[in-house]
Amino acid sequence: MTITPMVNAERVVKKFGSHTVLKGCSATVEKGQVLCIIGPSGSGKSTFLRCINHLEKIDGGRLFVDGSLIGYRQHGDKVYELKPREASAQRRDIGMVFQRFNLFPHLTVMENITESPRRVKRVPKAEAEARATELLARVGLAEKAKAYPGSLSGGQQQRVAIARSLAMEPKLMLFDEPTSALDPELVGEVLEVMKQLAESGMTMIVVTHEMGFAREVADRLIFMDDGLIVEEGEPREMIANPQHDRTKAFLSKVL
Ligand code: ADP
Ligand code: MG
Repeated sequence: MTITPMVNAERVVKKFGSHTVLKGCSATVEKGQVLCIIGPSGSGKSTFLRCINHLEKIDGGRLFVDGSLIGYRQHGDKVYELKPREASAQRRDIGMVFQRFNLFPHLTVMENITESPRRVKRVPKAEAEARATELLARVGLAEKAKAYPGSLSGGQQQRVAIARSLAMEPKLMLFDEPTSALDPELVGEVLEVMKQLAESGMTMIVVTHEMGFAREVADRLIFMDDGLIVEEGEPREMIANPQHDRTKAFLSKVL
């Protein structure tokens, strides 16, 4: 019996005009595993994440999430892009947390978290609020349900953003440098929430330069440079003993 991986990227190519930003990236993430992606600015990390939930079309290769082809439908040997409605249905199962928290400033924390489940999934208000209350407790913000985002610290806002993603009950969570906009003293509280989420069995892909997190929490580590996956390995091993010169040079700057 083979178990379907949660994510299977096969030679993904992405171009912006004449600029090839992803030059054939392949990666697999098993269910319940955490993959961290590191690499210099402009290497294609965000683009790779955005392709996984089809915020970007791809120009070559295939992406599967939990066995489903993402963004496209295959007929014989041809692929057709899904309609926007079909693509957003796929995206519903994939949570994404960005560097900037993107909370709705005019909605309370509770309203931010319950908005999508109520509108998209038609979850009744009381049920959505009960679930949001649980999620807020999980991210350590039980007392902030009635607060507005503007009154929260960056670390608190990012934890609300994580709770908001989880409210849609995703099977995969993507994090794009979730702590890099935060003041240093607020980074730990967000990483702690992410660590607990990983321990609860969530499948996660995390673009981060927090090497302590990568070492402690990730099952796999990928180093990207210039649109290519240069090196992949077990995090402790790869950090201690990088094989490629480019990986060595990069790690020497971030460690
Ligand atoms: P990273 O997240 O590793 O910093 P990105 O994925 O954001 O890298 O960007 C990879 C490359 O793609 C960069 O050269 C960037 O300028 C380019 N790029 C990203 N988004 C776009 C876009 N929408 N249009 C044109 N070029 C883009
Ligand atoms: Mg980026």
